[in-house]
Amino acid sequence: MTRYSGPTELYIGGEWRNANSGETINSVDPASEEEYATVQKADESDVDEAVQAAAAAAERSSEWSTMDPDVRREHVRGMADAIEAMKDELTLVESHDNGKTPFEAGLEIDMVIDTFRYYAGWSDKIKGSEIPVSDSRLNYTTRDPVGVTAHIAPWNYPFQLAGRGIAPALATGNTVVLKPSSVTPLSALYYAKAAEKAGLPDGVVNVVPGSGSGAGSALASHDGVDHVTFTGSTGVGKSIQRDAAEAVADATLELGGKGPAIVFPDADLDTASRGVQYGIFMNAGQMCWANSRLVVHEDVYDEMVEKMATIAEGIPIGGGIDDDGQMGPVVNKEQLEEVLEYIEIGRDEGATVAAGGGVPNEKDVGYFVEPTVLADVTNDMTVAREEIFGPVLSVIEVEDEAEAIEVANDSPFGLTSCVWTNDLSRAHRVADRLDYGMVMVNETPNTWPQTPFGGTKMSGHGRAQGQEAIETYTEVKNVHVNLD
Ligand code: NAP
Ligand code: MG
Repeated sequence: MTRYSGPTELYIGGEWRNANSGETINSVDPASEEEYATVQKADESDVDEAVQAAAAAAERSSEWSTMDPDVRREHVRGMADAIEAMKDELTLVESHDNGKTPFEAGLEIDMVIDTFRYYAGWSDKIKGSEIPVSDSRLNYTTRDPVGVTAHIAPWNYPFQLAGRGIAPALATGNTVVLKPSSVTPLSALYYAKAAEKAGLPDGVVNVVPGSGSGAGSALASHDGVDHVTFTGSTGVGKSIQRDAAEAVADATLELGGKGPAIVFPDADLDTASRGVQYGIFMNAGQMCWANSRLVVHEDVYDEMVEKMATIAEGIPIGGGIDDDGQMGPVVNKEQLEEVLEYIEIGRDEGATVAAGGGVPNEKDVGYFVEPTVLADVTNDMTVAREEIFGPVLSVIEVEDEAEAIEVANDSPFGLTSCVWTNDLSRAHRVADRLDYGMVMVNETPNTWPQTPFGGTKMSGHGRAQGQEAIETYTEVKNVHVNLD
């Protein structure tokens, strides 16, 4: 394995520098279990300096705030171009840092490039409105940037989940402080490189890798921060919301999921099973929007279990750069142990292992888990209620449409749901009743920069992507003019 040779320092106020404490973070390649990189680890004092730099760059009279919208548009587009130019390097880095296959890493980076291009187009289209009031008065609104936006990202899609917040925040004229997960700190530093290349003013983009409880908490509770965008677990999301309340800052929370894929007898079962495959085994199942509960009508239950087991057994495992596997390892040893423990709990609670169920025999190095299918799951079992965040599908049998909806909605989460049916009326009827932020019909979990992404219940609140994110990162100002 070739060791990492990309950026390793903190990026604050347009300068690369070491952490005040001199401490570092190690990145381990989950496929080889070897150390891949060492980067600087920010603490509270570094975060404070990053927020101050971002606040200075966000001042009303700053170069960034007073920039013409079409010029800002070219800066955001420049970020996309810079990222695109680094795509091969970034693909390699993301694959080693996280364990995902190079194919999966490439998709992630493409999505980021698309997202920056999409939001670049928004930069000069952010408008207010005119409101009719009493005679001889002019009343109008503008949409102003909120100011300093904090972005705290998880390790499963480290580059993409940071980028989908940063791109709209920049397009609307805000400044950014990004703290990636200390499990996968590398790709975030490329946003700093891209900002440099695109010529963004100093302090507009700041990147501070560090721990969650240290740098993360310091950032979320900093009184110089105006908005916190958090993607991660529900538990940490709650503490972020409390932290943000200290500065009366708004928080967008993109949290966990336990998504159902409902399969009706009238669906094309081959297409449905391939869709479910992607929705649970892509990224080794480490997806908030995974369709981790397969809710199947009794008439096709056995057939779907068999199809999913056959698919699971046929997936080539191996995520390393030199391997041509389709499913990589999970991110680290702790995650591996947690996923295996969930499989054990499933067995103990009465689930049947229809495929997988352990670590693959052929792998003695790397944090690999077999693609696993648990049949005979009931919706009250732990493996149906808790987010496993690994390649484990729980299959639940239902009698009819009403029970399918009831089981699907009986979850603490509400992020993504999928419906597989060829009955048009049923598709819309079920979509209407699902208490989820996103519903896919005859589609694996899918998203675009222009479509809103987010959940209900314990899956969080606020929406990433789309026009909704433009609203998130702007504040309405009302101007009233007496013309007499
Ligand atoms: P996590 O443990 O909640 O961490 C997310 C981020 O928060 C990391 O950068 C983490 O830093 C930081 N953090 C941890 N404790 C913190 C604290 N007290 N204050 C401030 N920041 C803190 O989540 P994860 O394990 O990385 O990611 C998996 C979770 O993310 C899953 O639940 C998944 O469903 C969810 N997720 C949701 C979405 C969505 O769009 N809804 C997308 C992807 C993932 P460290 O890692 O350095 O501790
Ligand atoms: Mg964590």
